[in-house]
Amino acid sequence: MEVFAFMKITDILNGNDMSLSFEVFPPKKEASFESVKLATEKIAELKPSFMSVTYGAGGGTSEYTLSVAKNIKEKYDVPMLAHLTCVSSSKELIAKMIDEIKLCGIENVMALRGDLTPELENSDRSAWDYAHAVDLIYELKQKGNFCIGAACYPEVHPESANQREDIKHLKEKVDAGADFLTTQMVFDNNLFFNFLYKIREAGIFVPVIPGIMPITNANQVSRAVKLSGAFMPRRFTAMVDKFGSNPAAMKQAGIAYATDQIIDLYANGIKNVHVYSMNKPDIAAGITANLSEILGKSFLE
Ligand code: FAD
Repeated sequence: MEVFAFMKITDILNGNDMSLSFEVFPPKKEASFESVKLATEKIAELKPSFMSVTYGAGGGTSEYTLSVAKNIKEKYDVPMLAHLTCVSSSKELIAKMIDEIKLCGIENVMALRGDLTPELENSDRSAWDYAHAVDLIYELKQKGNFCIGAACYPEVHPESANQREDIKHLKEKVDAGADFLTTQMVFDNNLFFNFLYKIREAGIFVPVIPGIMPITNANQVSRAVKLSGAFMPRRFTAMVDKFGSNPAAMKQAGIAYATDQIIDLYANGIKNVHVYSMNKPDIAAGITANLSEILGKSFLE
């Protein structure tokens, strides 16, 4: 697969080749930095179209997001997308983070509000300068020539009253300057296709990347549902029921399920797919190997 270093994510998304990107997360503490660095480097060696690095909830691991992104960008020439959240942040903190992103030479930023964790819900909000991701998007737009991503939710964000409201606010993010959207994890591609129809109808025309989470361990299931509220199709729950107690079999089946979802997306007109690879190089490698005759090929062929 061809890599383009100093490249805006939208150049990749709008190019001819099918793209596959991987998401990693930073360490929570200094002690695990080396192991995370090693895992993310192994994923970078697979030459994904780009890699994204998450930002800790409430800014908890903020300093490591950029160290991980900078390391991969410099050593592996893989285009990087740094996540940034604004919940509970002051204008000063966000201005400092934007300066640091620029200093690292990163031009792609995923602009997020961040989750309102129970601790944040109960904390003093007087120093919070941002209500929603849209406020951060305006700020990024003013402060640099960034390619900006935003999050979207095929199964509706849990705080939204309904999908119409959620899509209305999504359009505000795109109107404010979001250049592309990445979805919350989906396990049923039809939910993604239905969502895509609805947002196109609502006048949102930027590229939308479906997010695929390979579930390779039965313990991940309840966490994934809690985090995303995602619907688990019968085909998926049958797989976990059958193989969940055999770790090696579950891993193989989970990689195959994610691969199957990705192939179905490519086969049905979706050119770009993002994988929540969760710092697991063997899983990223398994999916990449399964797609070896597909990736790097023109989507138009
Ligand atoms: P927003 O766009 O602000 O939306 C949050 C809610 O508010 C939605 O219900 C929306 O409909 C509503 N809303 C938006 N604007 C308005 C408005 N003007 N008035 C009223 N309501 C409004 N979390 C992290 O902590 N770190 C990460 O790195 C991270 N990466 C993510 C990547 C992806 C692809 C996704 C899908 C999620 C990610 N998250 C991450 C989780 C995300 O922070 C949470 O889902 C969070 O609850 C919402 O973030 P948002 O940017 O979508 O917020």
